Amino acid sequence: MRTEITERPSLLRSINPATGELIGEFENSSEEKVIEAVKTAREAQKEWGNLKIKERAEWILKLKEKIRKNIEDIADEIAKEKGVSRFEALISDVFPILDLADFYAKNTEKILKREKINIGIWGFLGRESYIEYFPYGVIGIISPWNFPFSIPMGQIIIALMAGNTCVLKPSEFTPKTGVIIGELLKDVGFPKGVVEVVTGDGLTGAYLVKAGVDKIFFTGSTFTGRLIMKAAAENLIPCVMELGGKDPMIVFDDVDIDITANAAIFGSFFNTGQVCASVERLYVHKNIYEEFTQAVIEKTKKLRVGPAHLPYDKDMGAVISEKQLMKIKEHIDDAKEKGAKVIGGEIKDLFVYPTIILDADHSFKVVKEETFGPVLPIIPFETEEEAINLANDSEYGLTSSVWTRDIKRAERVAQKLQYATVMINDNLITHAIPQTPWGGVKKSGIGRTHGKEGLLEMVQIRHVHKNKLGQKVPSPWWYPFTEEKYEFALSLTNLLHSNNLREKIKGLFGVLKTINRVSKQKL
Ligand code: NAD
Repeated sequence: MRTEITERPSLLRSINPATGELIGEFENSSEEKVIEAVKTAREAQKEWGNLKIKERAEWILKLKEKIRKNIEDIADEIAKEKGVSRFEALISDVFPILDLADFYAKNTEKILKREKINIGIWGFLGRESYIEYFPYGVIGIISPWNFPFSIPMGQIIIALMAGNTCVLKPSEFTPKTGVIIGELLKDVGFPKGVVEVVTGDGLTGAYLVKAGVDKIFFTGSTFTGRLIMKAAAENLIPCVMELGGKDPMIVFDDVDIDITANAAIFGSFFNTGQVCASVERLYVHKNIYEEFTQAVIEKTKKLRVGPAHLPYDKDMGAVISEKQLMKIKEHIDDAKEKGAKVIGGEIKDLFVYPTIILDADHSFKVVKEETFGPVLPIIPFETEEEAINLANDSEYGLTSSVWTRDIKRAERVAQKLQYATVMINDNLITHAIPQTPWGGVKKSGIGRTHGKEGLLEMVQIRHVHKNKLGQKVPSPWWYPFTEEKYEFALSLTNLLHSNNLREKIKGLFGVLKTINRVSKQKL
C-alpha cells in the first residue's frame, strides 16, 4: 500500500551547524522516486552480480584511488556539513575507507569461496555437500549524520563486492555527503544504477524500507531501529541494525595517568562526542580517582572549541542540530538538579563546551541514556567486580574499554563485559579497522558490518547437495515402504548409534543382509 501524505517540504536545507551557512538544498524524495531508485538498482544488479569478484575488485580499487586523490576536498565538504574540523573529518570519515576498500578488494574472493561440508556418514552413502554464497540483490542503506561518508561508503563497498547493488538514503542533516558518494561512483564510471542515492528525511527512509529492497542496513538510533524492524517485518525483509551505545571506560590504578587521561578525553569528545562508540561513562579506580579526574579536567580545559578556519585549528566543532543540543542540555540539567558537580557545560549557538560530571550515579540520565554529546561522567570504583557490574549496567552493548598494564586482568575483565567490542588500552578506533567485526549486542544492534562477518551479512547461503548414486539406485527410504526396508532401517540404527558392540555387529549383518534387496525395490 502506498503511503498517503498531505503536506511535506519538497526540499531539505543542509546547513553548516558551526557557521549557519547554507550548504545547499536537496530533494526530499517522494515514494515514487524511491521505488524508481530500487527498480533501477535491481536492473543494474543483473549485470553487476554476474561480474567476477576480481572484476568488482577492480572497480572498488578505482574508487579507492579516486577518493585518495580527492581526500582533502571530500573531507572539507564533510567537515562543513557536520560543523567539525577538516582534520577530524579526514581521519574519521575518509581515511578509513581506503583501508576498507583494499581489504574487501583483496579478500572477498577468499571469504566467499565455495566450501565443502563434512557430512559424516552420508558421505559413505554416496552424498556430497557444499555451500556457496550469492548476493541478496538490492541492499537498502539508511545512514546517520555523524559519519556521513565512512558508514554508508563502507557498507556500499562491501555490498558491491558481494554482488549486490544499493540504494542509499543519507541523513537529512548530511544530504550533500550522500550526493558526493553518488558523484564519486559516477565519476569513476560505475555502471548506472549500481548505487542510487535518494536524499530525504525519515519518511524517505520509511519509503525505502517498503520499496522492495532485499535487505536493510540501518545505522542510527535504537528508537528508529525499532520502527524500521517493525516495518521490515511486514515483508520479512532481513535487517542489520547498527544502533546506539553507552561506552564504559574502566581505568585501573596501575595506568599511566597522563596517557590514559588523554585517551579518555579523545574517546569522549572526538567528533563533539557524537560517536556511537564515544566514551560516555568513565569508571576510575578509587586509588587514582582524584589524580586522574584532575588530569582529565586540566586537559579538557585546553581543548579549542568553535568553528574551524584551518583544517586543525579547533579540537571540537558544533553539535549537529538544535534537537541534539537540547538532549545534551537535558542530561546536564538533570545532573545539576540531582546535585552533581558539573565542570564546563557552557553552550553558545550550537557549541557545547566539553563537560565533566562528578558525583553522578546510575540514576542519572547522563549515565543511563545515550547522550551523544561532549559530556563525561566520572565515577569511582573499588573492585574489579564492581567495575564490571557498573559497566554492564546498561541497555546498550556496543563498545567498551579496559585500561591497565596488567593484560591478564584486562582479558579477564573483557570476558565478563557484555559488549560486542572490548578494547584494551584503546578506544573508539575499531570501526576504522575493516578486518574486525563491527556491531552491537543488547539494544545496540543486530548483525555485523565490517570484517568477514560483515561481508557474510551481504550474501545468502546456498547449500548444494549431490547424490552421486542418484542416477544408479533408488534410495532405501523411497517408496514403496516394505518389511525389508523397515528391517534395514532398524539395523542401520543399531550399526550407527548403539554403544553396544554386539548390537553394532548385529546391525552390520542386518544391513548387509537387506541392502541388496532394498536397493532394488521401486514402485
Ligand atoms: P536517527 O535514527 O535519527 O536517523 C538515522 C537515519 O534514519 C536517518 O537517515 C533518518 O532519516 C532515518 N530515519 C528516521 N526515521 C526513519 C523511519 N521511520 N524509517 C526509515 N528511516 C528513518 O539517527 P541519527 O540521529 O542520524 O544518528 C545518531 C544515532 O545513530 C545515535 O544513536 C548513534 O549511536 C547511532 N549510530 C550508531 C552507529 C553504530 O555503528 N552502531 C554508528 C553511528 C551512529
